[in-house]
Amino acid sequence: KDTDTTADNGAYLTREALMSLSRRVLEHQGFSAEQARALGETLVAAQMDASHSHGLYRLLGIVQTLRQGAAVADAVPEVEDVAAGVVRVDAGGGFSPLAFELGLPLLVGKARDAGVALMAINHCVHSTALWVELERLTEQGLVAIVCNPTQAYMAPHGGSRPLLGTNPLAFGWPRPGREPLVFDFATSAIARGDIELHRREGKPIPEGWGVDRDGAPCTDPEEVLDHGAMLPFGQHKGSALALMVELIAGPMIGDLLSVESSEHDAGRAGLPYHGELIIAIDPARTAGATSEAHMDRAERLFDELLGQGARLPAQRRYRERALSESRGAWVPQALLDDIEALLA
Ligand code: NDP
Repeated sequence: KDTDTTADNGAYLTREALMSLSRRVLEHQGFSAEQARALGETLVAAQMDASHSHGLYRLLGIVQTLRQGAAVADAVPEVEDVAAGVVRVDAGGGFSPLAFELGLPLLVGKARDAGVALMAINHCVHSTALWVELERLTEQGLVAIVCNPTQAYMAPHGGSRPLLGTNPLAFGWPRPGREPLVFDFATSAIARGDIELHRREGKPIPEGWGVDRDGAPCTDPEEVLDHGAMLPFGQHKGSALALMVELIAGPMIGDLLSVESSEHDAGRAGLPYHGELIIAIDPARTAGATSEAHMDRAERLFDELLGQGARLPAQRRYRERALSESRGAWVPQALLDDIEALLA
C-alpha cells in the first residue's frame, strides 16, 4: 500500500539527494545542524523503504509543528545514567532521533552488561517510523522492543471517542549475516499518516479504520481525523496493546499519556509530544554461552513460514530498499512541490 512506482508524476531521488533536500529544508526552517542531520537520516531511511507516510512527507508536519512553537529546533538532548539497566534521555522538546542516537551507546553497553536494559526518552516530539531505531539495535546483535504513545486519536474497542493513541509497537530480532526480522505497526487499524495521505489525495478510507463524530462507521478521512476517532486493529486485542503502550511508555517512564499529550497540544494539531520506551536484550546473556546455536534455531521458524508461502514482516521494505538503492526512491511531484515551498 506504500508504493506507487507506476505513476510518472514524480521523481526518483538518490539517498544523497533525499538527504540533501531534507537537511536544506530543516536547516532553512531553523533546525540546528545536528537536529537536521539526525531527523533527516530517519526520514530518508523511511523514504528509501517506500514507507511514504513516514518519509519526506513528514517534513510538512515537522515544519508546521515548529512554526506553531510546539517543538524546539536546536534542542540538545541530555543523557542520564539512571541505573544498571536504565538510561534516560531528556530530548528537551526536540524531535526524537537525535535523543535516540545520543543515548544509544549507553543503552547498548548496559544491555551487554546486564542482559537487558531500557532507555526512556522523555520530552520529545515524535513522528518517525520505529523500525529505523530498531535496526540500530539489531545490527548490534540485540533483540529490541520499541513503543510510544501519540495523541488521543483512537477510540478504545467498545468506545466511540478518542482516548488512546495510535501507539506503535515494534519488535526486532537480529539474524547474523541477514536483514533482521522486524515488525512495526500502529495499534490502530492503520497509521494516522496513511489516513492523512488519503485526505490529501481525496480518497475515501476503507471501513473499519474510523468512526464519525457520532461513533458511526465512517469512510471520510477528514471526518475521522478532525471530528471522529480512529479504531484499533483486532478489536479488543489492539485496544489492549494500545493500553499497555500508554502505560509502559507513559507513566512508567514518567511521561505523558496520549490524552495528556493532546491537552499539551491544545488544538495546535502539531506532531505529538510525549516519551518513548526502548528495551534492548542481549541473547548472549539470556541464552548463555551457546546463544548463537539457539538463535540459529529461530531460522527454522522463518524457513518454514516462508515455505508455506507466507512472508516475513519487513520483507517488503527490504525489497523496496534494494530497489531504491539501485534506481532512487520515488517521490510524488505534489510532495516535491510542497517541500520546495518550504525553502522559500
Ligand atoms: P503496516 O500495516 O504498514 O505494517 C505493519 C507491519 O506488518 C510491518 O512490519 C509490515 O512489514 C508487516 N506486514 C504487512 N503486511 C504483511 C504480510 N502480509 N505478512 C507479513 N508481514 C506483513 O504498519 P502501520 O500502518 O500500522 O504502521 C506504519 C508505520 O507507522 C510504522 O513504521 C510505525 O512505526 C509508524 N507509526 C509511528 C507512529 C509514531 O508515533 N511515531 C504512530 C503510528 C505509526 P512491511 O513493512 O515489510 O510491509
